[in-house]
Amino acid sequence: MNVGQYPVNSQDWSDADWCGLLNDLIANGIVSYKEVTSLVLGHLNPSQVGTSIASKPTFQKHFPSRQCWKAVRQWHFEQIGRCVDCGTRLELQADHIIPKQELGDDADKLENMTLRCRRCNVVRRPSHKKGGLTDLTAETALMWLLFTKQPTTYQEFAILCRLYGMTMANIRFEEAWAMAKWLEREGKYSIDSQSQY
Ligand SMILES: [Zn+2]
Repeated sequence: MNVGQYPVNSQDWSDADWCGLLNDLIANGIVSYKEVTSLVLGHLNPSQVGTSIASKPTFQKHFPSRQCWKAVRQWHFEQIGRCVDCGTRLELQADHIIPKQELGDDADKLENMTLRCRRCNVVRRPSHKKGGLTDLTAETALMWLLFTKQPTTYQEFAILCRLYGMTMANIRFEEAWAMAKWLEREGKYSIDSQSQY
């Protein structure tokens, strides 16, 4: 696979860069077109966005019995079907406009709800300060670093993860490193003998 040809920050990647990575993953038998496409289709489906709202007592209490879903359905249909922050159609979730930390249970009103993607939802949290070298979700960034930088030791991988702004515990890096171990056994990744794992 091609290493080092891509821009350092994921924000600077062009369509051609993403296309190159995807084609690399497919050419190397990591994933197939069918798998990628079916994942995309699955993530286009805003699964349980409405039904999860309608099942919460904090929303239900604003409506006569059995009327909550009708209102939620209407709210859902009226949304634009894209993340209000980044515009993606993928992995949409219902999110509060004014956060629950500020309003408590009063935040749970349809007029205070919007659609936001999982990534934008996560990076909004105070615990997840934006400003790292990647705008990807942590789980995506872990694989993105592995496949595009191809660190040959676990130590190098962990340093990269920190460098790119990931704040989770090391065990998450160790868990993600399993991909390197699995691929090495298939002859698709090289791990240096100096590697801690
Ligand atoms: Zn978004």
